[in-house]
Order: sequence, then C-alpha cells, then structure tokens
Amino acid sequence: MTDFTLSTDADGIATITWDVAGKSMNVMSTAGFAELDGLIDATLADPAVKGIILTSAKKDFAGGMDLNIIAGMKNAGGAGGIFDGVMGIHRILRKIERAGMDPKTLKGGKPIIAALPGTALGIGLELPLACHRIIAAENPKAKIGLPEIMVGIFPGAGGTTRLVRKLGAMMAAPFLLEGKLSSPKEAKAAGIIDEVVDPDQLLARAKEWVLAAKPADLVKPWDDKGYKMPGGNPYHPAGYMTFVGASAMVHSKTMGVYPAAKALLSAVYEGALVPFDVALKIEARWFTQVLMNPSSGAMIRSLFINKEALEKGANRPAVADQSVKRLGVIGAGMMGAGIAYVSANAGIEVVLIDAAQEAADRGRAHSQDLLDKGVKRGKVTAEKKAEVLARITATTDYAALAGCDLVVEAVFEDPKIKAEVTAKVEAATGPDCIFATNTSTLPISGLARASARPDQFIGIHFFSPVDKMMLVEIIRGKATGDRAVAKALDFVRQIRKTPIVVNDARFFYANRCIIPYINEGIRMVAEGVEPVLVENAARLVGMPLGPLQLVDETSIDLGVKIAKATKAAMGDAYPDGAVDAVLFALADAGRLGKKTNAGFYAYDATGKREGLWDGLATHWPVAGEQPDLTQVQHRLLMAQVLEAVRALEAGVLTDIREGDVGAILGWGFAPWSGGPFSWLDIIGAARAVEICDALTASHGTRFTTPALLRDMAIKGETFYGRFAKAKAAA
Ligand code: NAD
Repeated sequence: MTDFTLSTDADGIATITWDVAGKSMNVMSTAGFAELDGLIDATLADPAVKGIILTSAKKDFAGGMDLNIIAGMKNAGGAGGIFDGVMGIHRILRKIERAGMDPKTLKGGKPIIAALPGTALGIGLELPLACHRIIAAENPKAKIGLPEIMVGIFPGAGGTTRLVRKLGAMMAAPFLLEGKLSSPKEAKAAGIIDEVVDPDQLLARAKEWVLAAKPADLVKPWDDKGYKMPGGNPYHPAGYMTFVGASAMVHSKTMGVYPAAKALLSAVYEGALVPFDVALKIEARWFTQVLMNPSSGAMIRSLFINKEALEKGANRPAVADQSVKRLGVIGAGMMGAGIAYVSANAGIEVVLIDAAQEAADRGRAHSQDLLDKGVKRGKVTAEKKAEVLARITATTDYAALAGCDLVVEAVFEDPKIKAEVTAKVEAATGPDCIFATNTSTLPISGLARASARPDQFIGIHFFSPVDKMMLVEIIRGKATGDRAVAKALDFVRQIRKTPIVVNDARFFYANRCIIPYINEGIRMVAEGVEPVLVENAARLVGMPLGPLQLVDETSIDLGVKIAKATKAAMGDAYPDGAVDAVLFALADAGRLGKKTNAGFYAYDATGKREGLWDGLATHWPVAGEQPDLTQVQHRLLMAQVLEAVRALEAGVLTDIREGDVGAILGWGFAPWSGGPFSWLDIIGAARAVEICDALTASHGTRFTTPALLRDMAIKGETFYGRFAKAKAAA
C-alpha cells in the first residue's frame, strides 16, 4: 500500500500526490515519511524533473500526524528515540527546503510547491512550510493551522521554527500558542500561505509557478544572507518587548501548568538566537522534553484519542442508525433555546414548545441573536441564517410534535411539571419517539415513572451555555433501553458534541464531582482560610475558575436550592452544614453571585469582577495561621477526583475514558492532567492513598480512600493499566 504516488508530465513537472488508502483524511505515518523521502530523493535526482508539486488526491491536504508515531518512537528509545525520530523528520523537510541547491551559491535547486485543496493541519502545514511556496484552493470550509498546543504538545516538525521566522514571534503567537486555525483567505492575510486560487485552477497555477520560478524564489529568507527576524529577535528592542510580553501572557493564561506552552516559548526564544539548523535542533530537544512529560501523553490520550473514540460511538449499543430527523424541544428557556439552536444549526427540523407563545418566540429569537452575531463576524452567511431559522417552529401546540423521533424536555426543574409534560408529549408523538429529559438533578428512573414507555425514556444533560459547552452527559435510567441510548448518541454526533454515557445516580457524573469542589472552597472560607489563597490555589493547579468564582457564576441561590434538596434527601447523613452556613448567609444578604453583581466577589456597575468581597473577612475572619498552597490544592483536587473514583466504583461511570474526557469538557478539570483518572495515574495510586489518608486524618471522612484506590496502590496498578478497555484504545 502506498500513501504517495508520483507522476511526471511532458514538461518535467513531477506531481507527488498524497492519498492514504482507506482513510477520508491523509495522516502522516512512519511509512508515509519513508515513502515521501524516497520520492523526494528520486525527483531531485532525476534530470528530467524541473520542479515538484506536492498535493493531495483528497478534498483536504492532511489532518496531521498519526500520534502513534510518537508513541512508537517513545517506546522504542525513550527520550533518545523521540529526539532521533524528530531529527529524522527535520532532515526530510530540510531536504525539501534546500531542494538540491548549492548551500554556498544557493543555486541549482528545484522549485517545490505545496498545493492544498483543503484542510491542512499539523504536519499537514509543517510540510508545506518547508516548501518554497504554498497555494491553497479557495475553500471556506478548509482549516489551516497548527493545533498541536490544544492536545498538550507543540509543532515539532519545524512548524514552530519556520512560522516564527516567517511571521515574527508576535504575529506567529496566536497560531502557535493558541492553535488558532484559519480559512485559506485568512491564512493568506496572515502571511502563512502565499496564494489562494480557484479550486479548478489549483494544479494549473502550481505548475505555472514552478515553470516560472527563479533561483531566488527558492531561497527561504532564513537561508539568505542578512536575514532578520520580522519584529526583531530577543535582543532587538522591539523583539525584547515581544518576548517579555509573550512570556507574561503565557503564564497568565496557563499559570505555568502546561509544559507545552513553556517549552514552545523556550524553543522560540532560544531558536531565535541561533542559525536555522541549530534552531531546529533546539525545537527537537524541547519537543522531546514535552513528550517525556506525562502531562502531554495524558492530554493526547484524553483530548484527542479518547475524545474522538467517544464521538465515534465507542460505547454505542449495536442498534441501527438512529439519526434524528425531527426534534421536539419542550421549554424554550435558557437550555431549551440553546438546544433548539445547536440542533437547527446541524440541519435538524426543530419544534420548540413553551407554555406561552411569547416564551416560545423568545426561545427562537435566541437562535436569531446567535446567528446575527455569526453574520457580523463573517462566520455565517445570510442564507445559512435564514435556513437555520426556517428549521425552528416556535409554538404552544403539542400537535406540532407529530413526526418527531426525539423530544428533549427542558422545562422547570419540578418533577410534577416534568411528569405532565411527559404524558402530553407521549400522547402527541408516535410510538417510536424517544423522550429525553435535560434535568440536572432529578433521578432519571424516578422521572421515567411518568412515562408509558420507560425503555424509551433517557437523560440528555446539556451544559450551559449550550452552544459553547462541548460535553453532553447521557444518562441511562434503570429501564432505559439500548435504542434510546443509541438515539441520544446519534443526536450528540449530529450536533458535533462529545458524549459520555453514565448510569443514573444523584447528580449523575459531572455535577457529582463539581459540587464537592465548590463546597470544599466554601468550607475553607468558613474555616478561615484566606479566600484569595483558595482561588489562586485552584487556578495554579489548572482549574479555569476558582470554586468561589464558579459558584458566583452559577449563582448562589442555585447552590442554596441544591443544598436544601440534597439535605432533604440525605437526612442526618448530610455532611455540608458548614458550607451551607456561608452559602445561606450570602443568599440572605442578597449576594446571589454575578447575576446580582454581588457574591463572593465584588463587581462594578457593569458586572466586571473587582476582586473578592472584603466583607467576607468580617463574617468569616481569616485565621492567623494559613495552610500551605499544596494542601489547599490537594483538598480541592481530591474533592473532585475521589467523587470520580466513587462514581466508577458505584458503576455510575463504566469507562474511565468517559470520566476523564467528561471532566475536562464538562467542568474544565485541570486539562493538563488529562482528567481525574489520568491525574491519579500521574501521581501514582500509592501517593494518592498517602494524600487521602493524611487529609482524612486532618479534615474528615469525606477524604476516605476508596477501596479501589487502596487496592490499586497495594498492587502497584494504574487506572489505564487496570481498565483494559480504555487501555486497548489509548
Ligand atoms: P428556564 O427557566 O430558563 O426555562 C424553562 C422554560 O420552560 C421556561 O421558558 C418556561 O416557560 C418553560 N416551561 C415551564 N413549564 C412548562 C410547561 N409545562 N410546558 C412548556 N414549557 C414550560 O430553565 P433552564 O435553565 O432552561 O432549565 C431547564 C431545565 O434544564 C431544568 O430541568 C434544569 O434543571 C435543566 N438544566 C439547566 C442547566 C442550567 O445551567 N441552567 C444546565 C443543565 C440542565
């Protein structure tokens, strides 16, 4: 099997075409590199070849590197294996860049152009960056960029060094540090690629350029005499500002917990001080260092490999396709309106019902608002907006649900109202229709009692705001059947979000873990821990929001409501009295969080956070002696992580991959760690037990080591080692 084919025409133009068999998208493999290397050698050596076009037979150029290559290099030779492997890739790309020219006179090379029909990501852009020119077909759907940082690594096949030398550190920063992707036109405007052409003209234009190319067109600025980095190198006054600024920005955004961002900056800084080939070597060393850090492996596993496996239906029951054609949404409030929008946007017909026509119309207007914003930003066309809106029917009439194959209920969180709605929906829909509730706290099995067909009753739990949050938690009630699970999974795939499937228990999975995090933060305030220490400890361990900010955002009265309901359900076993004292006092004082411009934080009149409210110290005096940072962090992390382990022990979670992916996408659990189970694997079960035992002694039984974790510590196991299903896929 070949990944690349070569054809040479009568004018001496060799076209190397990338077309990996059996895949819809090209990905670079070890064998692919070897083949490409051979074809480059052959074409450079062939006197009949005047120049080379590198293109793809697919609608896109390439999606990136097969991440198993990296795993292979690491397994084969550890750090040395990775470094040698990466240097091997550099040699191939550098050969393309020099194209046989004399290194002194810079003459005698053959022009090599990359012609991109569509998307070009990761190595799919690093390879073109080594060519002498990059042209792309005008294809608004194409994405061009270097997204490596999103999975905890950075562009390590010369992309970092070449882009910085091409654009300057400042201009390259969003593409490298944030993994920003561009359309071909945007990539051209940014200077990443050289030309955008009509798709029909792509190869003709490539050939025209090759035939007209002069020796000087083949010399990269950094290989030319007197090269100066755009924007200045680190010791140039302007460059100095950029590097100091970039360093500060990265630290403020990442709190120093992402090894890839730091290593990337180091590679850029150190690389800027030395000649190009040395810079590549420095890039390879930092890249190796990042890959040897367990964080990068865990991030790749959760955010790339396992996320994709879940999206492709890793846990989908074997039932025929259940794609949704017509969706009913009951309750056009914040959640219902969002669900209607993402569904209509994905091409699904939506009937949006509320008790009053105005409320239904307001729900539909939410889509209009979001689409208008898209039009303003140039992301949505007027036609697309009209199409999406035309798919949403806002009404109070349940008869409009006829023909719906899925109905999602998002009415008030009240079992009585939900039961009424269930009965009304079932009366108005066909016998095969699946009914889903978006409840965030009510057990699915209880709500399903209102249903005449409980096997077709399921939980589909969205997070707010629906259009932004990528996780959807699917909850299987006791009676829920496989077809309902398949329906929910197919629906989530249609709206391009990531699903996890969990069993029914109080707060399901995400809320079960996030509530103890918030409560632990509040409990510390009650104990006299400096609130700012609580918040900073959380941020410094990679949580996007401290617990106090988080409860301000979700609202303190919601916290009060949940606390009261939980206490009512648990009776004497309820453990969070100290937390409630703080929560209820704030609620009584009208400090309900961000929405009232007052909570744990103080806000200005425009709703901007000004800092922690100084009144906190009056109510809950700060203790003279403060815990150290690590202890606060252990409390905040273990509060969440132990709940994840208990959810696994209790069979609420059935797959640790879902536990990890769900934690990062659902509530932003320290993404650098790869998720709660990956974090435990990084520190090791033995160390985790030690931390839990110490916390139990000092802070109580909520930190009791779960039996599973203790067993793993005794046996020296890891979660990903023990749970083979996940291991096989990772
Ligand atoms: P909301 O108050 O914004 O909206 C509820 C809507 O349902 C209102 O428009 C109301 O008029 C309508 N409604 C009430 N009774 C109805 C009936 N009998 N028939 C038709 N419409 C009726 O509430 P929300 O925040 O959108 O929450 C809705 C559901 O989603 C709740 O079960 C909530 O627990 C759950 N949820 C909320 C969030 C969140 O962050 N807000 C997150 C996940 C799940």
